[in-house]
Amino acid sequence: MTTTLTPPVATKAGGISISKLSKRYGTGMTAMADVELEVESGEFIAVVGASGCGKSTLLRIIAGFETPTEGSVAVDGGAVTKPGPSRGVVFQDYGLFPWLSVRENVMCGPKQRKSARANAGTIADRFIDVVGLGRVAGKYPHELSGGMQQRVAIARVLANEPSVLLMDEPFGALDALTRSSLQVELSRIHKTTGTTVIFVTHSIEEAVFLADRVVVMTGGASRGIPGHVKEIVSVPRELERDVNSPAFNEIKKQISDLVHGDDAS
Ligand code: ADP
Ligand code: MG
Repeated sequence: MTTTLTPPVATKAGGISISKLSKRYGTGMTAMADVELEVESGEFIAVVGASGCGKSTLLRIIAGFETPTEGSVAVDGGAVTKPGPSRGVVFQDYGLFPWLSVRENVMCGPKQRKSARANAGTIADRFIDVVGLGRVAGKYPHELSGGMQQRVAIARVLANEPSVLLMDEPFGALDALTRSSLQVELSRIHKTTGTTVIFVTHSIEEAVFLADRVVVMTGGASRGIPGHVKEIVSVPRELERDVNSPAFNEIKKQISDLVHGDDAS
């Protein structure tokens, strides 16, 4: 537990400390209230909940795109006040530059960093390799499938070497098969890079498949109470991430009951 005055200083890169975070848009009702979360370096956190419960708001505040009405976010002990290189963001739409090749898209970030500029090509190639796109590095976004474009978007963000990767329903626009192969890929990338991940999704199955912990949010304007964290469910490290296994489905059901429960508080 933290206070707004003394955010703890994470010892390794990628620690996140979220304290009493609330957001009210304009003069409307409070969209999200009293979110508290401590994330360890390298953890994979999924955020689930019905539409409108404040998932994207939470992610955008961590990214620094929005300022909270109350509370604070610290990454690696430093207060978040605006977007910065410690946090990379991947959205549902890939946001690639259509006039640049895959390799040029991924080189964008490193080219803007003084320390990386000279090695931008090498860095890009490394992360293109990490997402398995070496064969198409010279192609343009329109020549690629949606799944491949999203891999490029992930590589482009990773090439900035953020300590935290923020993903807002990144696989929401993909077909089921592509989606499940990207889940496997992301899990591998997470293990390879050790980057802290905050992953917003509608899919409870996707959350349990990927995460160390699942943050369950409920409420929202349409339900008459601010969006808030209802419970944080730990997924045992040893759980077999097999969507057909009974243990996997038990956790899925536990989370589903929390999300859909009659008790919206
Ligand atoms: P989720 O991602 O869980 O669907 P959001 O964080 O997008 O939820 O939205 C939470 C609430 O805040 C919703 O009621 C939404 O209408 C409202 N909201 C989100 N963004 C804005 C904004 N820029 N201005 C006003 N209200 C907003
Ligand atoms: Mg959203």
